[in-house]
Amino acid sequence: MRRKIVAANWKMNMTGETAHNFFSQLNQMTWPDDVDAIVAPPNLYLQGLHSIKGNAKLCGQNCHSEQSGAYTGEVSAAMLSDAGASYCLVGHSERRKYFLESSSFLKAKVTAILDNGLFPIYCCGETESERRNDTHFDVVKNQISNDLFGLSNSEFGKVIIAYEPVWAIGTGLTATSDQAQEMHYFIRSVVREKYGSDIADDVCLLYGGSCNTTNAKDLFSCKDVDGGLIGGASMDPQSFLQIAQSF
Ligand code: PEP
Repeated sequence: MRRKIVAANWKMNMTGETAHNFFSQLNQMTWPDDVDAIVAPPNLYLQGLHSIKGNAKLCGQNCHSEQSGAYTGEVSAAMLSDAGASYCLVGHSERRKYFLESSSFLKAKVTAILDNGLFPIYCCGETESERRNDTHFDVVKNQISNDLFGLSNSEFGKVIIAYEPVWAIGTGLTATSDQAQEMHYFIRSVVREKYGSDIADDVCLLYGGSCNTTNAKDLFSCKDVDGGLIGGASMDPQSFLQIAQSF
């Protein structure tokens, strides 16, 4: 049975105080029982939010693939776990673009995340020109197979995949529900080819890219969309809740 998930990616936004206020407000609201809330604050704030996060699960925004060592400025998956995270984002297009993260690095990160008992939220998606050139299916299939298909069945069973078309992230342009469903159906069939029907039917597929209170209902009504990874619209508790009420 797939879970319904609404995950917040705050990116490099919020302060310790605003993050704390977010959870204070969220804890006063009635969150739908059948929807999992996951919040990825800046890594720095994970530990301090642990006591106030309520039923939400915390998620790291990034980690290094090594367990420890001379990697100034980096944080390991073990440290995220120690700070109270249960999940970690990996493969976000902003990391691929601005930090030039390669497929071999992403693969190693996914392994480190799993080895430390966290669940990876693996992001993939095509750029605007890749969609224009009609290569979006190939791009997404290559990302997933290069970065994830070295995993065993039991490891892959712990992965959540977020389809995030790069042209929709932070742009106000959203995939139509037809575009989202078409790609999510495709991703599930790529997973089915490799891991079989049981795992493909169970893998949670989130849509990300300018998802908000106005379009979430439409997107979440798609058969193969199990929820959303939300950036800009996730920092206000009222709109985060409203998105979670959109299933
Ligand atoms: C994201 O960064 O993962 C994202 C989906 O951002 P936004 O919702 O702001 O497009």
